[in-house]
Amino acid sequence: MKNLKDLKVENKIPAEPQNNLYKVEVKVDKAGRLSLPPEILAQLGAAPGASLHLVKEFGQVRLEPNLHALRRLYLEPTTACNLSCQTCIRHTWSEAPGFISRELVKKVSSELKDFPFLQSIMLAGFGEPLVHRDIAWIVERLKTASSASIELTTNGTLLDETMAGSLLEAGLDRLWVSFDGSSETSFNDIRRGASFNLVLRNVQRVRDLAVAQNKPFSLGISFVIMRENINELKNIEKLIEATGADSLLLTNVLPYTEDMERQMVCPLALTGETFTGSSGKPKISLPRLDINYLTQEPIFHLLRGYESLFLIDRPISAPSRYCRFINEGMSFIRWDGQVAPCLALLHNHTTYLYGLERKIRAYLPGDLNLQSLSVIWSSQEYDDFREKVFLFDYSPCHICGGCSYLEKNEEDCAGNTFPVCGGCLWAQSVIQCP
Ligand code: SF4
Ligand code: SF4
Ligand code: SF4
Repeated sequence: MKNLKDLKVENKIPAEPQNNLYKVEVKVDKAGRLSLPPEILAQLGAAPGASLHLVKEFGQVRLEPNLHALRRLYLEPTTACNLSCQTCIRHTWSEAPGFISRELVKKVSSELKDFPFLQSIMLAGFGEPLVHRDIAWIVERLKTASSASIELTTNGTLLDETMAGSLLEAGLDRLWVSFDGSSETSFNDIRRGASFNLVLRNVQRVRDLAVAQNKPFSLGISFVIMRENINELKNIEKLIEATGADSLLLTNVLPYTEDMERQMVCPLALTGETFTGSSGKPKISLPRLDINYLTQEPIFHLLRGYESLFLIDRPISAPSRYCRFINEGMSFIRWDGQVAPCLALLHNHTTYLYGLERKIRAYLPGDLNLQSLSVIWSSQEYDDFREKVFLFDYSPCHICGGCSYLEKNEEDCAGNTFPVCGGCLWAQSVIQCP
């Protein structure tokens, strides 16, 4: 068996610039109006007449993007999959597998021109996109119809030479590959039905092909962390180097059983809102420090015990009660044409919180078989839902767990009605998606 050390990257994929620093002077006119550069307005999805949210937090002011400008669209090619991963929500699922039709892809493609701020389209959902026999055609169709970058999340098992060539030819810009282990033993145990060495070879092949064909293509790794595999992160640099990935996205496991809930490595972070800047404790401001044998224990002590911890002026915190899907202008199209605001509400499914089973009902504010995407996206109902989630005035079920409302996403003790987001793990930065 080859090990990671033998599988070094020889060819480099051109990576996205990592330095996001952007500085520009903006002017306030005599009437007190601030003008922003057109490229920033475009990034914010700020069409003329749009209304944006200004947020002041920790003494810093930021302008949130326009909630009502679609900037990232997820399309679910299929709910079928060739694997049976330990971490997969599909274990508790009863839906029959489905595949998006060519007609629906054509319809979506023809409507993309209605979304001038669309930056990316991600092919992902509750299944494995490469199982769909038309997947390269879907990529090509979307790529031709829009200037948005086309991304795809895969388990990597079906990414053989023909598939890799077809996807690159079709114009795929970015591939996310799920690993969940950096060693063969752990990976093969968690991603049941997959082989670490096969997936690694497949990823290296697509990368090498992209380099040989001079395609602007990039790779990311996604990794579901659990108690069982957290130690695998110690070897993650080797996996990153062997794949040539430019980013690694870690997430906790979505707890679809009590056992999976016990596998989560975030109970304190979730319940105590550790690392969030709350006003209960004094603000502690750290300078940059070396992390070594001398500093690791004191830093660990501060990280564990203090909520208002800053690195100079920047909070060391993940946002809580904040939904990236909504705040970053995303939407989901299910394989059957139903439209959902997020992955959490795409399908009926079961999760666990504090040992309680939660039945999550899908929330589908539109159906592409009957309406256009722009009519669905700009409907009053969907608009109101985005504003409501932005304000996040839901009961704090993620830190309470105190009543039977938690068993469903139908209502909460603050009087909110379906769909309520107070127990959503995505909104607590515990679960994240590429
Ligand atoms: S590859 Fe993805 S969809 Fe398939 S079983 Fe694994 S986690 Fe589930
Ligand atoms: S609805 Fe209210 S009481 Fe019930 S779990 Fe949520 S926050 Fe607690
Ligand atoms: S908070 Fe959760 S359930 Fe609500 S819209 Fe966001 S991801 Fe979906």
